[in-house]
Amino acid sequence: MEIYDTAIYRMACQQFDQVADHLQIPESERGRLKYPKRSLTVALPVHRDDGSTEVFAGYRVQHHLTLGPTKGGLRYHPDVTLGEVAALAMWMSWKCALTGLPYGGAKGGIACDPGKLSMNELERITRRYTQEMISFIGPQVDVMAPDLGTNEQVMAWIMDTYSVHMGCTVPSIVTGKPVGLGGSLGRREATGRGVGYLINRATDTIGLDISKTTAAVQGFGNVGSVTALSLARYGVKIIAVTDAFGGVFNPNGLNLWDLDKHVAAHKTVAGFGEAEPITNEQLLVLPCDILVPAALERQINEANAGKIQCRILAEAANGPTTPEADRILTERPEIFVLPDVLCNAGGVIVSYFEWVQDLQSFFWSETEVVDKLFRILEGAYTQVVTLSKKQKLPMRLAALSLGIKRVQEAKRMRGLFP
Ligand code: NAD
Repeated sequence: MEIYDTAIYRMACQQFDQVADHLQIPESERGRLKYPKRSLTVALPVHRDDGSTEVFAGYRVQHHLTLGPTKGGLRYHPDVTLGEVAALAMWMSWKCALTGLPYGGAKGGIACDPGKLSMNELERITRRYTQEMISFIGPQVDVMAPDLGTNEQVMAWIMDTYSVHMGCTVPSIVTGKPVGLGGSLGRREATGRGVGYLINRATDTIGLDISKTTAAVQGFGNVGSVTALSLARYGVKIIAVTDAFGGVFNPNGLNLWDLDKHVAAHKTVAGFGEAEPITNEQLLVLPCDILVPAALERQINEANAGKIQCRILAEAANGPTTPEADRILTERPEIFVLPDVLCNAGGVIVSYFEWVQDLQSFFWSETEVVDKLFRILEGAYTQVVTLSKKQKLPMRLAALSLGIKRVQEAKRMRGLFP
């Protein structure tokens, strides 16, 4: 599977191998659990606003098809590669299995910088990508959702392009779309809300009074901003946030409502008043109770893992901690890790609710959505903590073991085909 070979794909495979050793999965079963079932790479020629034509690379990877359709986000970022998308698809598989969703994992991406594209250019790229994916996706085949650099509007364009091809409106082709087009109440907030819920549970587990804690959040997009707000509602003081353009720090706590207004006006947290500037590197090693990486993968590495000064590391982003950093964290039992496959699962859980609502054309209230979300998260959290304590496993190994074992069992029951 050399086509996927990148640092992040190797990282996902290393994690899998570690869990497979722990679960004593026979060699003969490892290949079909690990390698993506199929992937599609497309060239997307698009007219730029200045009249020129540019070709963008697009990818979609479906990791396994054993338990139902595949499910996973679509990412717009200049560094997107097939290998990155494959790693993210693999993590989605374990996350869906851990939380009991009837999906395999998938992920997609386009190598582009959405910040440097006009709305019209973004729309043309998105529609072209969807057109190329028509035969590869479907409500019972593969369902996309927002991720880094994509949002409700992007999902609306995908749904529209797909629906035009099918000759009827097909809302269940994507999740995370606007509520007015069949989106679910509570989907936009789901990931950050789930992160907040699990951090609250983690403070119970390690005996911290959440109302007296401080937090630092890396990334202030969908997940980071909603996590910060959700933590503030539990009484947490948010002392630092960063994004791709800079960061701000105030030991007395940042006023998130004013910060939101600043971000709406300036598209970055940088330059927010009543706070000192702070870099990403500084934020990650800041003394605080709760550290939330909510931006990119591989942020906590061999160089900074020994210097992190938090009690709870809540991995809101996918893959923010490298395996080398993980080994260092395992030697630091004072840090309680909420691993990504558990910590940010709120997003795919409410995506699942959205898909179910679309298939039934029967929509739920936000209270129902949040209640069901917390119930699933509670079940997954309890299972992971129980296994971790019983077998003295790090939280990541416990979470991945539960997810991988379920996929292994399903594959054993079905046979070689899916
Ligand atoms: P987003 O595009 O809404 O926000 C990303 C944020 O990260 C922005 O504030 C951006 O400025 C910041 N950022 C980018 N590069 C950075 C850098 N080098 N340093 C610091 N900040 C940087 O994306 P999102 O949807 O919030 O996703 C964030 C993470 O959460 C990703 O890892 C994604 O895979 C993961 N995730 C998202 C969802 C979801 O529902 N959106 C669900 C599960 C996991």
